[in-house]
Amino acid sequence: MNKQPRVVILGSGPAGLTAAIYLARAGLKPVLYEGTQPGGQLTLTTEVENFPGFVNGIQGGDLMDNTRAQAERFGTEFSWAEIVSTDLSERPFKLHTSEGKDILADVLVIATGATARWLGLESEKRLQGRGVSACATCDGFFFRDLEVAVVGGGDSAIEEATFLTRFASKVTLIHRRDEFRASKVMQARAFKNEKIEILFNKGVEEVLGTDAVTGLRLRDTVTGEESVLKVDGLFLGIGHTPNTAIFGDQLAKDGTGYLITTPGSTHTSIPGVFAAGDVQDSIYRQAITAAGSGCMAALDAEKWLESLEEG
Ligand SMILES: Cc1cc2nc3c(=O)[nH]c(=O)nc-3n(C[C@H](O)[C@H](O)[C@H](O)COP(=O)(O)OP(=O)(O)OC[C@H]3O[C@@H](n4cnc5c(N)ncnc54)[C@H](O)[C@@H]3O)c2cc1C
Repeated sequence: MNKQPRVVILGSGPAGLTAAIYLARAGLKPVLYEGTQPGGQLTLTTEVENFPGFVNGIQGGDLMDNTRAQAERFGTEFSWAEIVSTDLSERPFKLHTSEGKDILADVLVIATGATARWLGLESEKRLQGRGVSACATCDGFFFRDLEVAVVGGGDSAIEEATFLTRFASKVTLIHRRDEFRASKVMQARAFKNEKIEILFNKGVEEVLGTDAVTGLRLRDTVTGEESVLKVDGLFLGIGHTPNTAIFGDQLAKDGTGYLITTPGSTHTSIPGVFAAGDVQDSIYRQAITAAGSGCMAALDAEKWLESLEEG
């Protein structure tokens, strides 16, 4: 390819912005579409204490602002638009934006992330980052010797609850039904953990607290009876949805919609399309792993472009 290839990145979380830094420094002038959540999921949280290089932690929003500025410094072009549909059937790939524009890409890095599932309560949204979290690995540390609740009934809820017992003095696992969906092994782990108390047939109606979580208003799903549970934190363990709907069936996905990449690389099922971050990772889901795979996607994309030139 003799002319400058059109390199497009979707997503402005740690994966997309890291890919942008590498691609821009390689002189490939990437164009990055930020979507409706500029900065990605980290903008939903306050203190980030586990991103290497920040001894005293850093606010999630500041980390992403800095990373964006770094990508811009090397020549990344940014657009606020969201991509609403794609045609990956031939190269150049065609992408349609929320502003009604059609854009072409010779290389595409998908870093559209995943969206944690929330209960959808106003009080839950207001207290996000103030005691309400969707990531025990990220925020469990802040609840040392405090009491927390986890909502959910699958493997991930039990995993989050078990992990939180390392910090919290008590973890209440709240589930709407009278039995868990989780595997028997996971259930056994929860039942035998003395720090975990299980509340079946309960739904969360409201997260209580003004500036920080102080408790939950619960409703019994069988009797309708209301009660208040005093807790200092609420963790959602009801899963994540990868943001892959705009690709339809064009790319290989797993049973829950995560993009499948060739092991050890970021190549998707279509040559020239690369995936990085939470959109292809249902396991680690951390800013540093997302950033790491963003770097991998940029290097994979560069090598792929070189191979086109050689061929
Ligand atoms: C409350 C909370 C706290 C967390 N705390 C920590 C922590 O302390 N430490 C840690 O390491 N991790 C933490 N995480 C996890 C971390 O935020 C994620 O692992 C990481 O942000 C994933 O990065 P990503 O770039 O893959 O995607 P995301 O951050 O999810 O970003 C996705 C990007 O894609 C864009 N996008 C989506 N669809 C489109 C589209 N159609 N067109 C264009 N753009 C699109 C969005 O606008 C967004 O910019 C936390 C997560 C949450 C929810």
